[in-house]
Amino acid sequence: MIKQKKTTLPMIPLRGLVVLPYMILHFDVGRQKSIKALEEALATNQLIFLVTQINENVKEPDMSQLYKTGTIAKVSQILRMPGNVIRVLVEGISRAQLCSVTGTDYSVAEIIEYMPKTLDKIDINTEALIRNVRDVCEKYFEVENKVSPESIAAVISTAAAADDPGRMCDIITGNIDLPIADKQMILESIEPEERLENLVFILSRELELLKLSSRIDEKVKKNMDKNQHDYYLREQLQVIQEELGDKDGIGAEVREYREKFAALELPEEAAKKVEKELDRLLKTPPGTGEGTVIRNYLDWIADLPWNISTEDNMDIKNAEKILERDHYGLEKVKQRIIEYLAVRKLSGGIKAPIICLVGPPGVGKTSIARSVAEAMNKKYVRISLGGVRDEAEIRGHRRTYLGSMPGRIIYALKQAGSNNPLMLFDEIDKLSSDIHGDPSSAMLEVLDGEQNSTFRDNYIELPFDLSKVTFITTANRLDTIPGPLLDRMEVIELPSYIEDEKYNIAKRHLIPKQLKMYGLKAGTVKFTDDAVHDIINYYTREAGVRNLEREIGSICRKAAAKIVSEGKKSVKITSKNLESFLGSHRFGYDLMKKEPAVGISTGLAWTQVGGDTLDIEVNVMEGSGNVELTGHLGDVMKESAKAAISYIRTKTDEYGIDADFYKNCDIHIHVPEGATPKDGPSAGITIATALVSALSGQPVRSDVAMTGEITLRGRVLPIGGLREKSLAAYRSGIRTIIIPQDNLKDTEEIPENIRKDITFIPAFSMQQVLNTALCKLPVYSDITKKSDDTVPNASVHQNVEITNRI
Ligand code: ADP
Repeated sequence: MIKQKKTTLPMIPLRGLVVLPYMILHFDVGRQKSIKALEEALATNQLIFLVTQINENVKEPDMSQLYKTGTIAKVSQILRMPGNVIRVLVEGISRAQLCSVTGTDYSVAEIIEYMPKTLDKIDINTEALIRNVRDVCEKYFEVENKVSPESIAAVISTAAAADDPGRMCDIITGNIDLPIADKQMILESIEPEERLENLVFILSRELELLKLSSRIDEKVKKNMDKNQHDYYLREQLQVIQEELGDKDGIGAEVREYREKFAALELPEEAAKKVEKELDRLLKTPPGTGEGTVIRNYLDWIADLPWNISTEDNMDIKNAEKILERDHYGLEKVKQRIIEYLAVRKLSGGIKAPIICLVGPPGVGKTSIARSVAEAMNKKYVRISLGGVRDEAEIRGHRRTYLGSMPGRIIYALKQAGSNNPLMLFDEIDKLSSDIHGDPSSAMLEVLDGEQNSTFRDNYIELPFDLSKVTFITTANRLDTIPGPLLDRMEVIELPSYIEDEKYNIAKRHLIPKQLKMYGLKAGTVKFTDDAVHDIINYYTREAGVRNLEREIGSICRKAAAKIVSEGKKSVKITSKNLESFLGSHRFGYDLMKKEPAVGISTGLAWTQVGGDTLDIEVNVMEGSGNVELTGHLGDVMKESAKAAISYIRTKTDEYGIDADFYKNCDIHIHVPEGATPKDGPSAGITIATALVSALSGQPVRSDVAMTGEITLRGRVLPIGGLREKSLAAYRSGIRTIIIPQDNLKDTEEIPENIRKDITFIPAFSMQQVLNTALCKLPVYSDITKKSDDTVPNASVHQNVEITNRI
């Protein structure tokens, strides 16, 4: 129990300050009443009662505005200061409870004094609390580094040495910067244990607060350091740029861009976008990747022909002249092009159809498009679509991708440098789609007159008007062009060339072109007519003239070398010396010399590179009825083979074939050049002929080619591409072609001079095919003669022989 004593003392109310026992401190006294109280104390026993005001702004506080616990202090010293202020030094002695306040000149407090209490015995709880206080206190001083280590040690040791926990708390509280309410709380804790508990609580909270604020401090400091670091570097860079002559770095660059864009008179949306990007550029620190991305973008915008266009020449006569000058033959094609230009002229170019030039490689599609561009006085750009499978190749990548670029359309426009060029989409039939989107849908938008005035590239992010662009497309075949795309186009077919056309193209165009290319004057390299024919027949086998041009180029190159090294004036290319330029013949021409063979027949195929001959080989071996088909055959072709076998099974009697051949033999059908995929039904009669020949042992004529689909009843159905197929057969030296009866009318498409050399045998049934194709029709007696050896082994040997010969 704490000893108490009732007494009265002069009182000073304190503002923003709590005085605790054992505390020595000075403060200034200014209020008259307080000065009087001080004087009274000095006149008596030097003791004074100090109590803190609840609200420090109140001038004359009454009881209710004062805390109820204060400290009795001894006044050790006073100092009169200027302005009627007294500085006073006091030492706290004991706690006291305020009971009432009286007095008029100065306040007299009636108080109950609590005598300081030392503990006789420190129990375990108190001991724990003491340690706790010391611990927290030490940590607090560690973090709060305002107090010097010496005074900390002094505080703790005085507090500890006294062996008086209550006093320890008072000393610690007196030396720590705590809020008034906390100090008052310690003052009001009369019992030492209570004081210990409260102090642990207050100190722990303060420690946490200190730690937190020091962490925040550190962060702020770090940020400040980084900012300062960047600032410093930027300043340095500025100095370097100035040294290098770039007065104000990015600022100057942005100004330059602005001037450039102002001259371009961009559409409103583009101008806004550019301004935004320039703002961004200004804000990006120099030398960063982001800056490069923005510059790239701005350069693209600056390089696009937003407002640049060329003036169209719509003079049809001039167009005719240019087309004629650049191309031999192709009369129908030229005619269609002229019609197209006339329609464009009349309609003012609005919604003119898009031309699609279709034909095998090397027949002049690209070349025609180039001439049209020249005739119309348009810039010419070519976009190759072969193998494009990603929509982004057409439409560009978004700028979020690293290294992203605009698509091919925008790229071509930049290349053209005008917004109304002639854009050639080469090989539109080779577009393919995969997981990266469908490029043909992007193409649809580009080619659609309704939509293409606001074509949006993913990279450019701005609409570009494509409606003034003239589009021409090319394709090798129509069947792989997506329907909606094909619908938008007007198809013009370019057929394969016959030998005579090739000869004329070579003489008039290819040779002069190649001579010029290798810097040779006209007449320095002369080609005899025979030499040109020989190049066509023995060194190329194609629908167009691409390889022909290449071979002529290679001759010119070698001739140029000869002229230079041997000091010759001119070189003459003849049939005789051709081999010394191009090596030995690459293709045999005279197939007529071939012997008739068993189990091998000549078919005709129609490929995207034009027509071609296609040999079909059949081997029949002793076995158990297996049928093997090799040579990369498609499903339709395999089915044709099966249909042919079924048909033959129903006709074994007529053809003198063992009725059980499908059980006793293994049949192998092979179409050479195994790596090239082949498909389609038109090899049906060719397979059937080879099969009948192999099974019956009757050889097939080697000067006959055939094409036609077969039904199970042996009927011959019509096929497509007769013109190309016939030209291919003609090129191979074949002069007799078996065709389906229904295709007879198509022979009119074949050039007259070739048609007159070929005998077309129309066939309605398989029987008619065999009548022509086999050297001799098999008769039943043939098979009876061989009845002891039903498997026609002879054919196996002959096949080997034939295969080697081809
Ligand atoms: P494509 O685009 O059909 O594959 P190109 O236009 O590239 O064919 O033609 C190949 C080469 O043959 C070009 O040098 C072209 O000028 C030439 N050529 C093709 N056809 C003719 C022709 N009828 N008259 C003149 N040169 C031609």
